[in-house]
Amino acid sequence: MSAPRSAPDRLRRELEAPDTLRAFGSGWISGVVGLALGAGGLLLVLSLRAPGAFSMPEITALHGHRGFRLVLLGLLAVAFAFSALSLALRRERILGTLGLAATLVAALLGGAQADALVPDPTPLFFGLDFFVLNVLFTGFLFVPVERLFPRRPEQAVFREEWREDIFYYLVSSLLVQVITLVTFGPAKGILAFAPLGGVRAWVGALPFLVQFAAIMFLTDFVQYWVHRAFHRVPWLWRFHAVHHSARSMDWMAGARMHFLEILALRATTVIPMFVLGFDAAAMNAYIFLVYLYSTFVHANLGWRFPVVEKFLVTPRFHHWHHGIEREAIDVNFAIHFPLLDRLFGTHYLPEDKWPEGYGIEHHPVPRGYVEQFKYPFRGDK
Ligand SMILES: [Zn+2]
Ligand SMILES: [Zn+2]
Repeated sequence: MSAPRSAPDRLRRELEAPDTLRAFGSGWISGVVGLALGAGGLLLVLSLRAPGAFSMPEITALHGHRGFRLVLLGLLAVAFAFSALSLALRRERILGTLGLAATLVAALLGGAQADALVPDPTPLFFGLDFFVLNVLFTGFLFVPVERLFPRRPEQAVFREEWREDIFYYLVSSLLVQVITLVTFGPAKGILAFAPLGGVRAWVGALPFLVQFAAIMFLTDFVQYWVHRAFHRVPWLWRFHAVHHSARSMDWMAGARMHFLEILALRATTVIPMFVLGFDAAAMNAYIFLVYLYSTFVHANLGWRFPVVEKFLVTPRFHHWHHGIEREAIDVNFAIHFPLLDRLFGTHYLPEDKWPEGYGIEHHPVPRGYVEQFKYPFRGDK
């Protein structure tokens, strides 16, 4: 008999339950799906109630649409059904109970019908709804594929440090306004002074696909060198080491990035795109693609792409960038095109081999978001 545990302890033990307790039919999958959708639904209802504080303007614009309300209603209904199913199947009831509780609280707060209740005090907002949609969309897209075609079948969905990586998602989603301001602010400043009208008109008139391809090549070239600098310049490496501290590769691992590195990467890609006059549709399509693409190359996916990997970055290519082996140090900097690594002498992709492990030798970066945020500013070594 083990001693009684607190609810958070029981929840964590359940999420991280061993293989045998997670089998299909055990009520684990329904419990996790029910809880994820229930908690997500509750946070979305909160952002409907206080859109000025918790909703991103692009998502607030959808609040009046029937489709948005129907999706939220469906989400809460599925959360309710799956949580109830888990309660029926599983002896440990914490997942089902919390899933049901979240759904009921969401319903009491107005559910899919909820309207703004709290006045908008400031122009500042946190992207709480962005966080929910981000994690649910990415998780439900990648987790099933990772379970079907894993690089490491033994790696659980809730592997070590999953909470830290979800927290990285949370911070970068909540602070989406800061990220946007820091990148578009300087871009507008440059535009005010630089006489680029002719170039901008020419670029903006190019067909969508040409603009999209041009953005991919341009940003990859810039990012190759920025990424390489983050590896080679010691004080920059201390920021980027946070990204490389991940010991498990999956859909969450790519989110682990020092906040100042996120700003630097966004600034060095968005500012040139904006200043050169690319169309907003092409820029937004690219930002969406690069988000999915970077999630994909970090994923726990064992797929080989023998032909494609010569031309495009694949999970195996980027996994080598994160490899713990000596031969994996400072290789494969490209985000999209391995050609850049071939040109500049940093390409490494041995036939049919994957790295043995991930992370940095001796694991110098501390664990936890706050410690990792402070890590580059610490005076040691
Ligand atoms: Zn790197
Ligand atoms: Zn990476």
